[in-house]
Amino acid sequence: MKYNHKYEATKGLQPEPFFYWFGEVSACPRPSGNEKALIDYIKNYCEERNLPCDIDEAGNVFVKVPGTAGYEDYPAFLIQGHMDIVPVKDEGVDFDFDKDPYNLQIDGDKIYAPGTTLGADNGVGIATMLAFADTLAEEPIPHPPLELLFTVEEETGMKGIKRFDCSKITARRMLNCDSGDPHRVAVCCGGNSKSKIEKEFETEPVGEGWTVLEISLTGGQGGHSGGMINKGRACAANNMGELLTALMADEKVSEFRICSLKTSTPSIIKTCDAIIAVPTADAKAAEGCMNERFALIKGIYKNSDPDLALAITEAGCGADSTAISSEDSEKVAQCLLYLETAMYRSHYEFTQSPVTGGSIYLAELTADGQFSVDFSVRSSINEDLRLKFKKYVLQMKMLGLDLVEYDSWLGWVEEPASPLRDALLAAHNELFGYDMAIGRGIGGIEVGAIKTAIPEMDAVAFAPFSKGAHTTSEYLSVSQVQPFWDLLKKLVLIK
Ligand SMILES: [Zn+2]
Repeated sequence: MKYNHKYEATKGLQPEPFFYWFGEVSACPRPSGNEKALIDYIKNYCEERNLPCDIDEAGNVFVKVPGTAGYEDYPAFLIQGHMDIVPVKDEGVDFDFDKDPYNLQIDGDKIYAPGTTLGADNGVGIATMLAFADTLAEEPIPHPPLELLFTVEEETGMKGIKRFDCSKITARRMLNCDSGDPHRVAVCCGGNSKSKIEKEFETEPVGEGWTVLEISLTGGQGGHSGGMINKGRACAANNMGELLTALMADEKVSEFRICSLKTSTPSIIKTCDAIIAVPTADAKAAEGCMNERFALIKGIYKNSDPDLALAITEAGCGADSTAISSEDSEKVAQCLLYLETAMYRSHYEFTQSPVTGGSIYLAELTADGQFSVDFSVRSSINEDLRLKFKKYVLQMKMLGLDLVEYDSWLGWVEEPASPLRDALLAAHNELFGYDMAIGRGIGGIEVGAIKTAIPEMDAVAFAPFSKGAHTTSEYLSVSQVQPFWDLLKKLVLIK
């Protein structure tokens, strides 16, 4: 079969099988929950090649491919990636993720899609599997018996893999293509406990004799709450908790009441706005108190978040405002302080690497008293995940707030011994003459669920180099695909 590229951007790029199939995948719309176009495409691909294609109720696709000539008796190898993408686009960009093929463009070494995500997360994994299984290729890639697992809805809480029957998998060695890069192998991943607080507080008119203050925290760097939790970055919700609890401790401020509060969303919270009311006689003291506390905060984050800023504006008297009681306001303030966005535990040996962390994702108090918080603990140590979550439940209970888990999945705990990992490291050394880096993080990938079902599975995770996943600046490095390709071709043939 001659490659008939759908995109100008992928023509002439090497390795051609990868880029051809990356183009084919990019032309299939596949936002989380609507992966049908790609599922149908893979089904058709399998029919053309006479490959058995098993599609389960969730939409996960499982394909078995016999080994190529000479490798039929080699041990089976599982390659796994997720079909869905995160549908993020820039404001004003006319793009329908349910219908439109990605608009692939090339600029130097970067493949990208202007104004939208690229879907390299995890299109690279899908393209890799289709290239390896392509029995119609002029030069099929030598491989052992392959098992290919294409999952749905990874980005919205691992929904696909949770519903997949892992007993279908016979391979005991696997590559996850959704983490790492050609020179960095991931050897573990975080589990996740997602929880929320929902509480309705009574509101009352604030009235005369009170001054309304608008408090705005801005300038945080933000970042991914799994991958960047060890960067020590500021969380605007936690910092708002600092400012408000400072008022509780200040003798010159008799009380305060929160009218409303809202944070930016995800992941590490960049901004938080609150409207509060204080007795007019205490207003100046309250402003001074918060400014003083903010000076300490600024000092903490002067390197990680140099643009952090606080603005406090007096917005008239409280005659037209409503707010929750001062007692409830103190609860909200403490809640924002205690649900900490931070790394909680580092690796015992590789101390730069987090094993447990948590983050508050969203906090909001509406003008009619609806208080909601989204919180998540991640850990590659499943016991720690449980205990940390329980700790926060207890802490919130002391404030009269119920922290309720609504979703969770287990992580992938680093194995002390892994023959596949050793073989990969040796292959990398042989190909490139230096050591492959080891990635230990608490981002979530689907290996956790597979390892939970099949504890003896020997897993590694690496992929072509891409950056900016889940944002419109996502790109794939063209030149870093070849090393990934060479490494993977070597790895699957290791006996
Ligand atoms: Zn992904």
